[in-house]
Amino acid sequence: MIGDFIINVSILVTFLFLYFQFLQTPFIKKQKKIVKTIFIGVAGAVLTFLLMTFSIQANPTTIIDLRHIPLLISAIFGGWLSLFITWAANITIRFSMGINPSSISNLIGMTLISLAYIGIHLKVHDLWKKTFVMILTSNTIFLIMTYSLIPDKVYFLRLNLIFWPTLFAAGFFTVYLFNFMKKIHHKYDEYEKFATKDPLTGLFNVRKFDETMNELTHSKQRQPFSLLVIDIDHFKNINDTYGHPNGDQVLQQLARLLQESCRPTDFVFRNGGEEFTIILKDCPHHSAGHVAETIRKSISSHSFDIDHERKNITLTVSIGVAVFPYSSMNTDGLYKLADLALYEAKNSGRNKVKIYHPGTDSVPLKIQASSK
Ligand code: GH3
Ligand code: MG
Ligand code: MG
Repeated sequence: MIGDFIINVSILVTFLFLYFQFLQTPFIKKQKKIVKTIFIGVAGAVLTFLLMTFSIQANPTTIIDLRHIPLLISAIFGGWLSLFITWAANITIRFSMGINPSSISNLIGMTLISLAYIGIHLKVHDLWKKTFVMILTSNTIFLIMTYSLIPDKVYFLRLNLIFWPTLFAAGFFTVYLFNFMKKIHHKYDEYEKFATKDPLTGLFNVRKFDETMNELTHSKQRQPFSLLVIDIDHFKNINDTYGHPNGDQVLQQLARLLQESCRPTDFVFRNGGEEFTIILKDCPHHSAGHVAETIRKSISSHSFDIDHERKNITLTVSIGVAVFPYSSMNTDGLYKLADLALYEAKNSGRNKVKIYHPGTDSVPLKIQASSK
């Protein structure tokens, strides 16, 4: 019996592991909630089939399987729709094994248990309390049903003595495992997201910027692109006058404005502090200057909400632009060149766009030479 129990637990563990691996596939990740709910129900159906195929031989005359467990996880983690799918699979599988009093009692028992599970799921909110009440209820239903169905009371007693601890152990273990895997995957998703995104603005971060620049540098096509380095003018004054939290709100609104100013194929990054960058794909230098100028103007004419929309302020930005391959054939140094152009924009009075033109004295020639 211990061997059968280990086999069943192994089925549960392997199944849950594969199930969560599958959940992490990009195809499933982008699905709507309803599809995921259906998926939990279908997974419960497959697990029911496996568990009913590999039942536990309690003793020569007694067979137990863990078919309640998929109902339990479908109810707790999926809700009524998942539970319904798993319940339907349970009944169908049992009837396909033969239409007899046993399959009819399975229909009655599983229906009662499913109804009880959904009621408990809605009423009890603590996960462990919920698990306990669910198992206690389904075991009680099992006890009543086996009492009325089995005339041999010694056999009935033996069956329940094995069934009760088995279901409690397997049920708690599965819920623990499911919950643990769910938390791990949630954390994994968060880390994956924040590895490339800035938490304040939701824009791509400096890490993604380096990665994107690297990709563009090493791409075989070496397609032209423009790089805009955008820095808020006198942002320190905004923080000093209105406070840091208001400064944060301004950064968030500016991020949205930048994103709205770009095409879906462009990339907008927050590189740190109040510095943003934009990569405009397939954008030659004459268009880049035009786009940068449009962005600068739209920012200077925008009203930024602060103090929870009680006040409005305006601000300006300076933008430095470098274009590949116009400014430099070397994409590695492109950021430095755009930054030099930004420096120029700041030095010439702010609220300006400057493009790095190669061979001109728009930036000091010494730095220009060393950055190439
Ligand atoms: P300049 O026109 O020369 O760019 O002047 P500036 O005041 O914008 O430049 P400076 O580099 O002196 O100041 C940048 C300020 O940005 C200082 C810092 O407190 C602020 N800052 C950096 N990161 C954040 C942030 O995440 N939130 C807020 N609210 N402020 C930030
Ligand atoms: Mg600034
Ligand atoms: Mg700055």
